[in-house]
Amino acid sequence: MVDPVRLRERMVCEQIEARGVTDAAVLDAMRKLPRHLFVEEALAYKAYSDGPLPIGEGQTISQPYIVSLMSELLEVQPGMKVLEIGTGSGYQAAVLAQMGADVFTVERIKKLFFAARKRFMDMRMFSVKLKLDDGTMGWVDEAPYDRIIVTAGGPEVPEPLVDQLADPGRMLIPIGSSKRFQSLILIEKRDGEVIQTDKGSVAFVDLVGQHGW
Ligand code: SAH
Repeated sequence: MVDPVRLRERMVCEQIEARGVTDAAVLDAMRKLPRHLFVEEALAYKAYSDGPLPIGEGQTISQPYIVSLMSELLEVQPGMKVLEIGTGSGYQAAVLAQMGADVFTVERIKKLFFAARKRFMDMRMFSVKLKLDDGTMGWVDEAPYDRIIVTAGGPEVPEPLVDQLADPGRMLIPIGSSKRFQSLILIEKRDGEVIQTDKGSVAFVDLVGQHGW
């Protein structure tokens, strides 16, 4: 494989900065994190390409640009408590942890949960907390969260997640009435009010659960 540091530099320059992401902490995390260690070895050579990749169980690791766009829209500051629904490979959680967030992530598929847990152990990234559960119910014991990010697409905004969002707080979730085609919805909670903004089209795998498909 070509030098990963050079591949990451190209990825950041051509896929991320070129499309308008400017948050220095996001760009720094994307430059530093070894994305090729979050995919199966046979696909490592494709890890820095401009698209999602299969991670098994019919799931995918998100495209680098989408990971950076969501990380920027979330406006994460060091020390913030962040809940992620849809651990998958663990890459998005690792990016948020690298940005200094205190990350809690939930995955519903056992095999992916154990693989991600091992990955964080091997990388000695002990700051990410993982849970095997239906993330549409949130992670009640650790609530409230300054930020919530859902990396799978559902038919509606799960009420438990809005309840577990701090005030002030920001949450991102892909919502769509058809599968694999959603709008990225930004939910802002401020002074008891909840405001939703559509941030454009995205294509995520299904959010499956009590408040999902
Ligand atoms: N953030 C991931 C993207 C993984 S794809 C990454 O960086 O690799 C979305 C993941 O959401 C899949 O692994 C899928 O199993 C998981 N998922 C779907 N519904 C879920 C639910 N209700 N709770 C937790 N995880 C869920």
